[in-house]
Amino acid sequence: MEDWKSTYRLLTHCKHFFHRRLNPNFHNSKPFCTSGSRYHCSQPSELVKPYIGNYQQEFQTFKHLPVSLGTNPWNRCRNQYRCFASQATIIQRRPDFSTVSSEDLSYFKNILGERGVVQDEETLDAVNTDWMRKYKGTSKLMLQPRTAEEVSQILKYCNSRCLAVVPQGGNTGLVGGSVPAFDEVIVSTSHMNKIISFDKVSGILVCEAGCILENLIAFLDNQGFVMPLDLGAKGSCQIGGNVSTNAGGLRLLRYGSLHGSVLGLEVVLANGTVLDMLGTLRKDNTGYDLKHLFIGSEGSLGIVTKVSIFTPPKLSSVNVCFLACKDYASCLVIMVLPSEV
Ligand SMILES: Cc1cc2nc3c(=O)[nH]c(=O)nc-3n(C[C@H](O)[C@H](O)[C@H](O)COP(=O)(O)OP(=O)(O)OC[C@H]3O[C@@H](n4cnc5c(N)ncnc54)[C@H](O)[C@@H]3O)c2cc1C
Repeated sequence: MEDWKSTYRLLTHCKHFFHRRLNPNFHNSKPFCTSGSRYHCSQPSELVKPYIGNYQQEFQTFKHLPVSLGTNPWNRCRNQYRCFASQATIIQRRPDFSTVSSEDLSYFKNILGERGVVQDEETLDAVNTDWMRKYKGTSKLMLQPRTAEEVSQILKYCNSRCLAVVPQGGNTGLVGGSVPAFDEVIVSTSHMNKIISFDKVSGILVCEAGCILENLIAFLDNQGFVMPLDLGAKGSCQIGGNVSTNAGGLRLLRYGSLHGSVLGLEVVLANGTVLDMLGTLRKDNTGYDLKHLFIGSEGSLGIVTKVSIFTPPKLSSVNVCFLACKDYASCLVIMVLPSEV
């Protein structure tokens, strides 16, 4: 019941947010236009109009709400001066975000132990840099929780201390979403890597968010099943990261997107509430299907801690052929052919 109350609050919050953002009269209303969520031009005195009318951007601005979960890939423009909308923009660190203190470190060590609190420079350098080496943060702290309960305690505490947080999986995302923009605390899911259950009758796999995709593919292969997702980063990317980016990959045309194959999620919201949506039913009509909000939301709404996914049986044989099409119309014919065989 509590979960649903939290969800209701989340949705109400979204509704108010969009209302304000889409209503030009609310341009400068608090709390959504605090200095951190304003985008500054190369001339600091000139402010970019906050309302641009782009859904993608409106949604991404969630990441600048007081409890910042994740960081906005579209906003990592400070080094490259890429266009955010119609004008080149640079983001500023929000002054109301705290910096990590020794008391914070003691708190984190208390819940995660010394091993779950990473401050070593070499490791931090790697997790502050994205896969393309285009974006670099300056985080001084990475936390490695092992359970949803620990994630919940971390987020609740960061929320109360106004410490910004960025979730990180395998750090293979290509848009800089997994690395800090400034000195955010990195919450890594890499220690949450257990397979919880696999049902051979239904083909449903339940696992923790930090499971590496390649390990899941190998596990399922041994069971006679196929992971409906495969991509070049499989040796490093994690299923929680895949879900959070709504990754497509090589098997998308055959098995569909993660919105179809993911059956349930467990997610921790920014205030520490654990939302248990970890259903394992292929047909589930019980109310709102909230997991879809989290698929592809890049950690802006919460940290995914568990995933339940439908996996089809392994094919008895695979034949690969290379076809040369003379025009687009013949490509379309080929797309239709397999379903007729
Ligand atoms: C070689 C290569 C090939 C690729 N091929 C494809 C492809 O074919 N198709 C495709 O769609 N993509 C592809 N990608 C990009 C792909 O989206 C990512 O590789 C992968 O899905 C990200 O997973 P990750 O664990 O590395 O996430 P990260 O890079 O760590 O994070 C990605 C985003 O998700 C957030 N996040 C991570 N974990 C969580 C979590 N548990 N809860 C909430 N938020 C979280 C992060 O904050 C960040 O915003 C490729 C990347 C590479 C390097």
